[in-house]
Amino acid sequence: MSPELNTALSLCRNLPSPAGIAVRIIELAQDPETDIATAADVISMDMALSARMMRIANSPLYASRRRIDNLGQALTMLGLHATLQLALGFSLANMLDGDGQDRKQLERLWRRGALCALAARYLGLGCGVRRVEEVMLAGLLQDIGILALLQARPDAYPALLDAATDNDDLLARERALLECSHADVGAHLCEQWHLPRYLANAIGVSEPPGEPTDLFQRCVALSGRVAEIWLAEDADAARNAALQQIHRELGMDSQGFELMLQRIDQALPDLCALLDVAVPSSARVRQLLDHASELKELRNLRELQDMATARQRAEAFESQARQLSEQAHLDGLTGVLNRRQLETVLQQEFSRALQRDRPLSLAFIDLDDFKKINDTHGHLIGDQVLKSFAGHLQEQLRGTDTVARFGGEEFVVLFPDTDELEALMVVRRALNTIGSTPMAHVHGSALHVTFSAGVATHGGYERFANVQDLLKAADDVLYRSKSLGRNRVNARAPEPLPASA
Ligand code: GH3
Ligand code: MG
Ligand code: MG
Repeated sequence: MSPELNTALSLCRNLPSPAGIAVRIIELAQDPETDIATAADVISMDMALSARMMRIANSPLYASRRRIDNLGQALTMLGLHATLQLALGFSLANMLDGDGQDRKQLERLWRRGALCALAARYLGLGCGVRRVEEVMLAGLLQDIGILALLQARPDAYPALLDAATDNDDLLARERALLECSHADVGAHLCEQWHLPRYLANAIGVSEPPGEPTDLFQRCVALSGRVAEIWLAEDADAARNAALQQIHRELGMDSQGFELMLQRIDQALPDLCALLDVAVPSSARVRQLLDHASELKELRNLRELQDMATARQRAEAFESQARQLSEQAHLDGLTGVLNRRQLETVLQQEFSRALQRDRPLSLAFIDLDDFKKINDTHGHLIGDQVLKSFAGHLQEQLRGTDTVARFGGEEFVVLFPDTDELEALMVVRRALNTIGSTPMAHVHGSALHVTFSAGVATHGGYERFANVQDLLKAADDVLYRSKSLGRNRVNARAPEPLPASA
C-alpha cells in the first residue's frame, strides 16, 4: 500500500452512514424507553457506526483493559447514553455534496454490508461457529475497505467501482490502481483502529489471493456470495453459485442453505425499513444534523443527571441496607443487640479470648421484681423501663463492651479483655447508678428499678469449654444473687477479703 493511500486512509475516521439509520438513531435518542439492545439492533446493520463503536470501545484512551470483541460488548461497556451520543455523531455529510452516482454506490454498499452481516450470522449458526456475534460483525465490516476508499480516493475509486463488472474484475482493477485490494484496506484499517485481531484476519482473507484458514473466516468470506443473491441482476445464477461454493467449503446441504435464506428473508423487512429511506434533501440533511447535535447535548446532560441520581440511589440503598442489617441485629424495643446477634458476638469474643489468651468476662443481669412493675403500672410502662434501663446500662460501659437483651427483662454484658474483679466492679457501679436513677415517671412520681447479676470469667482462674458453659456459670451466679436477696452483683469466684484496716 502506498504511503499516500495510507495517509489518506488514516484520515477516514468518519465514514458515511445511511440516512435511514441516522433517522432511526435520532428517534432512539429522543425516546426515553430506548435500551441498549434496540440501539444494538440498529447499529449492527451499519458498518460505519459499528466500526466507530468498536474503535472507541477498543481505544487505548478509553479506560478499559478488557479487549472488546463484539458490538454487544462495546455498547454495553460504553453504556446507553454514550452509545447514543457517539452514534449521533454519524456522518451524513457526504449526502450534502455527493452526486447521484456516489449515492447509488453507497446505498449498494450499505445494503451489501447488512446482508453480509445477516448471511455471516446464519452461516455461522448453520455450521456451528460459536462466536456468532463476532462472525456477524466481521461479515458486516468485510467491505469497509470500499467505503473508506470511496472517501480516500474520490478522484478515481468511485469510477473504478462503477466500471467493475464483477468481483474478480473489481479486484483486478483495485490491484492495478492501488496495488492492493479493498480486503487489504479493510484489514489495514482494523489494525489502525485497534479492532480485535480476528477482524483484520478474517477481512484480509475474505478476497483472493487470501485464503480463509478456518470455519469462521470461511463463513465471513462466503457471506458475500450469499449477499449477492439479493444484489445480483441474475438472482438464480447467484443462488446456484452460492449453494455450490457453500456446499463445497462448509459442507452445508441444500436444506440448510434454504433455511438460511429463509431466515435472512425474515430479517429483510426490518432491514429495508432501515436502509430504504429516501435520500433526504440537503436542507433536510442539515436539519437532521442540527437535531442530532442538539440531542447529543441533551444526552450529555441526561448522562450527567443520571450519574447524579444513580449516585443518590446508591447512597440511599446503602443506608437502607445498613439500617436493615442493623435492625436484624438489634432488639426492637431496647436497641441493644438481640439474642441471635449476642450468640454470634459471644462466639467471636470467646474465640478471640482463646487465641490471644486474654480473659473474657460475662455478666448475666435480671431486673428485680419486674413482674410487679407490669402488674402495677401496665406493660407500656414496663416497656419504657426496659428501654430506659438498657440505655443507662450501656452508658455505664466501655465502647468495647457489648450489651444484649437475652430475653424479657434479662440482659447479658460481655467484657472482652477484662478480668472478673474488674467486671464485677463495673456492674456494681452500674447497679448503684441505675438504682438511683428514675427509669420512668408515673403520674409525676419516679419509678426505680434494681437488678441482680452474676459475673463469670473465662481465662482467669477458670477456663470454660465453650460459650454455653460460660453463660450457664454466670446464670448460676445470678441465681445466687437473687436468692441472697436481689439488688446485688456477685462473681463466681469467692471475693478476696478486703484488706484489714
Ligand atoms: P425476679 O426478681 O425474680 O426476676 O422477678 P421478676 O418479676 O423480675 O421475674 P419474672 O421472671 O417472674 O417476671 C419477668 C416479667 O417480665 C414477666 C414478663 O411479663 C415481663 N416481661 C418480659 N418481657 C417483657 C417486655 O418486653 N415488656 C414488658 N413490659 N414486660 C416484659
Ligand atoms: Mg427473669
Ligand atoms: Mg426479673
